[in-house]
Amino acid sequence: MRKKTKMIHGGITGDKATGAVSVPIYQVSTYEQDAVGQHRGFEYSRTGNPTRQALEAVTAELENGKAGFAFGSGMAAITSVMMLFNSGDHVVMTDDVYGGSYRLVTSVLNRFELDHSFVDSSQPEKVEAAIQGNTKALFIETPTNPLLKITDLRKMKEIADKHNLRLIVDNTFATPYWQRPLDVGADIVLHSATKYIGGHSDVVAGLVAVNDEQLAEDLHFIQNSAGAVLGPQDSWLLMRGIKTLALRMEAIEANTKKIVEFLENHEKVSTIYYPGRKNHPGHDTAASQATGFGGMISFDVGSEELAEKVISKVKYFTLAESLGAVESLISVPAKMTHASIPRDRRLELGIADGLIRVSVGIEDAEDLIEDLEQALED
Ligand SMILES: *Cc1c(COP(=O)(O)O)cnc(C)c1O
Repeated sequence: MRKKTKMIHGGITGDKATGAVSVPIYQVSTYEQDAVGQHRGFEYSRTGNPTRQALEAVTAELENGKAGFAFGSGMAAITSVMMLFNSGDHVVMTDDVYGGSYRLVTSVLNRFELDHSFVDSSQPEKVEAAIQGNTKALFIETPTNPLLKITDLRKMKEIADKHNLRLIVDNTFATPYWQRPLDVGADIVLHSATKYIGGHSDVVAGLVAVNDEQLAEDLHFIQNSAGAVLGPQDSWLLMRGIKTLALRMEAIEANTKKIVEFLENHEKVSTIYYPGRKNHPGHDTAASQATGFGGMISFDVGSEELAEKVISKVKYFTLAESLGAVESLISVPAKMTHASIPRDRRLELGIADGLIRVSVGIEDAEDLIEDLEQALED
């Protein structure tokens, strides 16, 4: 099956008992047993639920993995993956990972003595230099937020193999439609499915896929033990989202390219961050490991005042955190997602005061461009 077909026919589809074309929402916590200890594959919905199982099966297929897991949020997925490690272990992480991942390792997992180092993973030699005797994993996000930094996954795989580390990839921005890290040898791929996979700003969820039976068993043990599972209704919503993932990603990327072209020709816009631009750092790597560049753009309008003015004037871009939805979203990272980082450190990372981040939706590109044009006018 090719990838667009998988989104429709992958995993478990429909309902054999009734012929229903859509997987039913099994809104149930427990299951009748035929005799003591004799069940029909399901005992209790934390351990397994048919709707969640169908989502987990299609997740595995989309990522070319052996097993998939659905969690109550992206952070629940990441937390559960981190539970694979022991106190005293060390993880090397991309330095501009999602803020919630940063908070998890620096303010929660540190209390359990799971150690970490943050490095600019777009520079493989820095990753290698950060490896210690107790390092057990590389946790890589590519592309990142908001500067769309690219890490070379094949290089990360080489480093992971050399030092016997697990390679974990947060694939939220690229989606399995564009990028499948398990194909280049990653051990674990994870998503905030709240974003593109759900795609409609109506569900919070996390997904994980792995390619190894033992890892799958270990992760299922943690999923069942920690219990951060996704409910049946939300599992169904994600499956519905997956059915149009290909269409949405194509439409979003086509719009994004047009908007980038508009921004490139606008005098008030200085730096533009988009991995699809030839001069974007890591463009060649992005092109070699993903089949598309996605729908996230960041651009600098020079000042906080202008950034705030643009935000207040746009009509079709909703001022909101999050990303990856059918509706276009806009934000000012310095004031929103990255407000907790001290200004000096923020500027060091390249997140300027006038930086605007856009998550492009599937509206008419012409409307989106006209909207940005009027918002950028004096
Ligand atoms: C949103 C996000 C997360 C966290 O996911 P939630 O569903 O909000 O818990 C993790 N990684 C990335 C890259 C994200 O954008």
